[in-house]
Amino acid sequence: MNSVTQVPAPRNEPVLSYAPGSPERAELKAALTRMAGEEIEIPLIIGGKEVRTGNTERQVMPHDHGHVLATYHKAGPDEVRQAIQASRDAQKEWMHWPWEDRLAVFQRAAELLATRYRPVLNAATMLGQSKTAYQAEIDSACELIDFWRWNTHFAEKIYSEQPVSGPGMWNRMDHRPLEGFVYAVTPFNFTAIGGNLPTAPAMMGNVALWKPSNAAVYSNYYIMKILQEAGLPDGVINFIPGDPGPISDILLAHRDLAGVHFTGSTAVFHTLWKTVGDRIASYKSYPRLVGETGGKDFILAHASADVDALATAIVRGGFEYQGQKCSAASRVFVPDSIWPQVRDRTIDMLSQIRVGDVRDFRNFMGAVIDRKAFDKITGYIQHARESKGIEILHGGTSDDSKGYFIDPTLVQVEDSAYRLMCEEVFGPVLALHVYPERDWERIMDVVDAGTPYALTGAVFSNERKPIVEADRRLRNSAGNFYINDKPTGAVVGQQPFGGGRASGTNDKAGSVLNMVRWISPRAIKETLAPAQSFEYPFMGEE
Ligand code: NAD
Repeated sequence: MNSVTQVPAPRNEPVLSYAPGSPERAELKAALTRMAGEEIEIPLIIGGKEVRTGNTERQVMPHDHGHVLATYHKAGPDEVRQAIQASRDAQKEWMHWPWEDRLAVFQRAAELLATRYRPVLNAATMLGQSKTAYQAEIDSACELIDFWRWNTHFAEKIYSEQPVSGPGMWNRMDHRPLEGFVYAVTPFNFTAIGGNLPTAPAMMGNVALWKPSNAAVYSNYYIMKILQEAGLPDGVINFIPGDPGPISDILLAHRDLAGVHFTGSTAVFHTLWKTVGDRIASYKSYPRLVGETGGKDFILAHASADVDALATAIVRGGFEYQGQKCSAASRVFVPDSIWPQVRDRTIDMLSQIRVGDVRDFRNFMGAVIDRKAFDKITGYIQHARESKGIEILHGGTSDDSKGYFIDPTLVQVEDSAYRLMCEEVFGPVLALHVYPERDWERIMDVVDAGTPYALTGAVFSNERKPIVEADRRLRNSAGNFYINDKPTGAVVGQQPFGGGRASGTNDKAGSVLNMVRWISPRAIKETLAPAQSFEYPFMGEE
């Protein structure tokens, strides 16, 4: 085809309401009933083929842990090696496909997800990861559709980035994929991230081995089905759930490791980076290491803050999806002058929150992801209970008899260096520190230096000067900074997401900055009338 084409202009997928009587609500409820009523078997997908190893584990509903949704097969060393070979075979073709055809696969995947697969992936995310209908909609539907549509647009933008040509020459840039495979390691908490990490490199002509989180295999498997249906060639993305340690041992030791695309905890990313560092001389190229990791995200209120807006941000930012968002507000700083009103308003809202099975749409919160998370989070609550200078203002209660339920817990902390103010808890526990209003300057230093992380943060003020001050003083304290809004809910194409310090490499998922990490450009100079002799004019006799 002789054309300079453009991918369809990107737009954000509208968020459906799921209000009573809406067609999407009826469709979603039907999918929930159907899918909860069956137990599926999830194979590995290697070179487009289903592979069963017999070494299996189960995925259950976090809000009803006796209910098995799926049995999934786990990859062993042989399957990991097969997947490497399948990706190598696939790359020979895939890297040479016209870029329009490559990107069309993901445009089509976005369309399939926006229509027929929308209730399926949302229901899978609700059942397997305990998200409410709204939390599933903004993640597994809208964010993943946005990743696929916007990233194809960014890919086109990168390809059209071309150098100037001097007289008598034609310069070009060939934005090659990396030489080797990308290892995509994804977290449980966002289905969209599961879909984004292997596909962003694949769009640029790379091949990926995708190790999903064991707690999200169920929804992530449906993403593979969508990609296959959209025409993704066999072997471009290989789906290999399993034990992360042994899988990583093989992949990180391979000469063809070209990149790691990771989202998860800081500790795991440190391990991956360290392993790559130790083996750096053994690779064909320097592997690209892209990792978005933990957070301890703040809300800083100034004395001029709007109390209702602040309390709403605390409740939504802290407790939606049970506080299991990397961006969740988990430390809040409120001046003493407005504290009584903020406390009353926040506790009033918290006492209206229902926690329970996400299939009951009246619930604002579901369960935390698994037993390990439940024990860790309740351990923090227990420690708070036993410590001096801590008051549990709301919640603190939990019940794991049917599901891993923890009530929204608001903890007032006197010492701003107490562990709940510094460590990532990743659950519905929010620590709050009341500071003397006159200490505004000092408290900004505490916000900045209080944790090793720098992911998201918010400042609330109705006056401009404190906003200017916080913007400047907290410039490196968050990669996503919010003014008079909660620190969660970044939208692809609008607020590119990622943080610095211990929160990651800040390569901004769903932006051109992330996509450029998956290419290794080749500059081509073609001389139209090549020189015919080695001599230069300056060499002539006087
Ligand atoms: P996790 O670190 O436990 O797991 C993430 C992935 O790493 C999983 O697939 C897991 O199986 C794998 N893994 C674990 N040990 C490994 C090893 N030794 N080698 C290779 N892979 C290994 O994280 P999680 O509980 O799934 O997700 C929550 C964490 O993710 C939180 O810390 C949260 O802040 C972070 N997160 C960050 C962002 C961001 O954009 N910054 C987004 C979402 C989640």
